[in-house]
Amino acid sequence: MNEFDLIEKYFNWQNSNSDILSVGDDCALINTKPNHRLATSVDTLISGVHFTDDTTAKDIAHKALAVNLSDLAAMGATPLFFTLALTLPSVDDKWLDEFSTSLKSLADKYDIKLVGGDTTKGNLSIAINVTGTIDNNALLRSGAKVGDYIYVSNTIGDAALAWMQIQSGNTPSINLLKKLNTPEPQIRLGQKLLGVANSCIDISDGLEQDLGHILTKSNVGATIDLNNIPLNAEVVNYLKDTNDWCSVLAGGDDYQLCFTVPEDKVDKIKELESRLDVSLTLIGAITKELGIKRLGGFEKKCQSYQHF
Ligand code: ADP
Ligand code: MG
Repeated sequence: MNEFDLIEKYFNWQNSNSDILSVGDDCALINTKPNHRLATSVDTLISGVHFTDDTTAKDIAHKALAVNLSDLAAMGATPLFFTLALTLPSVDDKWLDEFSTSLKSLADKYDIKLVGGDTTKGNLSIAINVTGTIDNNALLRSGAKVGDYIYVSNTIGDAALAWMQIQSGNTPSINLLKKLNTPEPQIRLGQKLLGVANSCIDISDGLEQDLGHILTKSNVGATIDLNNIPLNAEVVNYLKDTNDWCSVLAGGDDYQLCFTVPEDKVDKIKELESRLDVSLTLIGAITKELGIKRLGGFEKKCQSYQHF
């Protein structure tokens, strides 16, 4: 059983309260007052699974908060507060000092307050629960419409290439390592997509799998053109040598946004791109025919990371 079947079988409980959007999107949404909702999500990082033993405390702290902020970004929410559940093998002052300074620096950047948590002894793991605010206009996975254009922010596949290089004993370039260890949550972009995008997800588990969540929730399909997927030069070179497109399509850890936009809003995307420091690339379109159809000549089925 994979993690999604497990969640579906045991934890996707019936929810008859229309004031709560529960399991199934990047965040849950809770109506608090008219046109005001809380968006909340939790993500855990575990040593040896999400980062290697030699990752610095500074990078671990950044990533632990960034991946959570990324789920707020995917809804278009504004960060409000977070809690921190920290499991540590021992008390190491130097490590904790570095961790807390880095965590605070990212928290200050996105104006999110640490309001509580839990501290326990065990194998290193960091679970953060973020909460943000949003009005009725949230970006959902379920809003994609046939004919929408599919966009992604910045470049895809950088973190996966860095991870593979580390696993095979090589040292990635500083630029790739930065993408893996200190992803930048696309908070501003998410907020600016409110009223523009019909659907949105953050790419944490691989472009195809995460786009697949939009498609399933929206009951539509997609065509994507591999030639249009934005790639950095190192990834282009890697693909030239290996043709390993699965690293881009299923690699994960991108923390870019994948979103769909109706034709009459496409002009806004160009405007946003020039206003924000982000590139937004058209990679395909939403279709009536279910599933993902690839253009570009790579046909092998790719498998995203599975926890089980
Ligand atoms: P994301 O990649 O955006 O963090 P996940 O793929 O981890 O989302 O989870 C998919 C959905 O399932 C989310 O809505 C998440 O809140 C929910 N979910 C995951 N694990 C559990 C669980 N143990 N109990 C209830 N809901 C869960
Ligand atoms: Mg997500």
